Amino acid sequence: MKFSHLADTFAMMENTTKRLELTQHLVKLFKKTPPEVISHVTYLLQGKLRPNYEGVELGVADKIALKAISKSAGIPLKRIEKEYQESGDLGHAASKILQQKTQTTFLVEPITVERMYDTLFKVAKLRGSRSQDMKMKYISSLLNDASPTEARFILKIITSTLRLGIADNTIMDSLAIAFTTSKENRPELERAYNVSSDLGSVAEAIAKKGLTGITDFQVSIFKPVRPMLAERVKSPQEAQEKMGKEFAAEYKLDGERVQIHLEGDKVLLYSRSLEDITSYYPDIVERVTKSLKVKKAILEAEAVAINEDSGEFLPFQELMHRRRKYKIAKAVSQYPITINFFDILYVDGKDCLDMSYNDRRKKLEEIIQEDQFARLVPMTIAKTENDVEDFLENSINAGCEGLMLKMIDAPYRAGARGNSWLKLKREYRNELGDSLDLVVIGAFFGKGRRTGRYGTLLLATYNDEEDVFPSICKVGTGFTDENLDQFYQILSNKVKLKKSSRVKSEMEADVWFEPELVIEIVASEITLSPIHNTALNVIRKGSGLALRFPKFTGKIRLEKNPENASTVQEVISLYNGQKKAIHDEHKTERT
Ligand code: AMP
Repeated sequence: MKFSHLADTFAMMENTTKRLELTQHLVKLFKKTPPEVISHVTYLLQGKLRPNYEGVELGVADKIALKAISKSAGIPLKRIEKEYQESGDLGHAASKILQQKTQTTFLVEPITVERMYDTLFKVAKLRGSRSQDMKMKYISSLLNDASPTEARFILKIITSTLRLGIADNTIMDSLAIAFTTSKENRPELERAYNVSSDLGSVAEAIAKKGLTGITDFQVSIFKPVRPMLAERVKSPQEAQEKMGKEFAAEYKLDGERVQIHLEGDKVLLYSRSLEDITSYYPDIVERVTKSLKVKKAILEAEAVAINEDSGEFLPFQELMHRRRKYKIAKAVSQYPITINFFDILYVDGKDCLDMSYNDRRKKLEEIIQEDQFARLVPMTIAKTENDVEDFLENSINAGCEGLMLKMIDAPYRAGARGNSWLKLKREYRNELGDSLDLVVIGAFFGKGRRTGRYGTLLLATYNDEEDVFPSICKVGTGFTDENLDQFYQILSNKVKLKKSSRVKSEMEADVWFEPELVIEIVASEITLSPIHNTALNVIRKGSGLALRFPKFTGKIRLEKNPENASTVQEVISLYNGQKKAIHDEHKTERT
């Protein structure tokens, strides 16, 4: 398939933000795509080359991309850098420069999707001292044969800046329409995606065999399942109203979610965003099989740092010391953990997703032999608001964040956020009642003690419908000196010359970043704002929502992707909940 088909579709998609039109473009594209390459096209649409869990990182540094353009166009690097500075977009810079070049090229081998994908795959796999030079050569060989439009999208793909404004749901809608005639069939695709975490394979199956192709998707070992997520509630009362008569309450531990896959001695671990994190936890790999009475299973657990002397749970940040490539053995002994099981998704050949919470918990209790290292998450069955209050207090005293409340007869709903799991965090009186995970999009230079570092950060939520990051507040409190250094170290690698196209902000920051880093924030309330872009025009025309008195909690959420940050929708429901709370308070005062 000619890459120009793909590039032309991308160009049309860039011109609209309307979901209906984006879907129509995708449907046309999918219908034109041969089934053998549809998985490649799907991964590229998702901005990747393979599913996350395979760890194939695309991403080429701007410098190498600039050198490749220079080599292909035969134009000095300095001029290309200048063009890039002016347009702020490598793709545009490349297409502009190559427009001048194509007139002098005679031998052109047309680019196919297969060739382009294979080249990018080779680039992603390159390691070692000469790899930068090799990457540059591979890319320039593609650019040699590319039209200006193709060059623009090649550059956007390799520098991970292709922003088409589509989320996985739009891709699934389009696949359903293209190959089953109706969007109504999306839940079938979703199920296949949720159990495989591999949208490329789902696309290929449906393109080749229609709906029957995707009914074959089953939970399987070493393919992570998309995790079930929880809605938040603000009080034990709200929790009880939503949960009904009898439900399970578990401690909400403050660690990292780990999906453990094991078969015999082979153990692989996946993060909440489905990346392979096995290398950070050699202790889990070594010890987990000793605590299990089964040979083949998929389990979910929270890895939590502990103080081995007192047995106390330690905060989440302690785990981040393990996020390193080298000297991991030292980090393992310096920062010991426990592994706390809370769910089972598969055991000895049997998929457990459709089993009720109750039955899954029983199974978990049957197969886990608890010891110092491996434990079951503390659980109780709650019937009243008081039961919840009680257990919440115990959990906070044990160093946890709050409670997870789970419907006892509900199945495991992979990839979904719904009412069968609720999270209840510690109440802050007169405060939001929950923290938010926000994306750092920009910064302002510090003064005084903070000179030479970023004194204030500009933060955003995630708009998952449009795949953009609208601003919500500036934050400058809650930072220790160590935090300031850490921020500078992490963020100075993510500086962009211009605001990224995915960032929506009226405020002008001193520096802009690629939206990647997620940090945790608490605040006193959510207010309407004429400046910030979160939920712009939703509550009131011309206004967005902003946080009042935001404060950094000390938690850098390295385990979260920007797409896992708090969404605009979550902020809107917090805002509405807050209004309701004030209303209720007034009512009580009056009676
Ligand atoms: P949040 O990240 O605030 O949306 O909260 C959900 C996270 O809480 C999950 O992804 C888990 O990492 C964590 N968690 C802690 N304890 C539990 C539990 N008992 N059940 C499920 N998730 C838990």
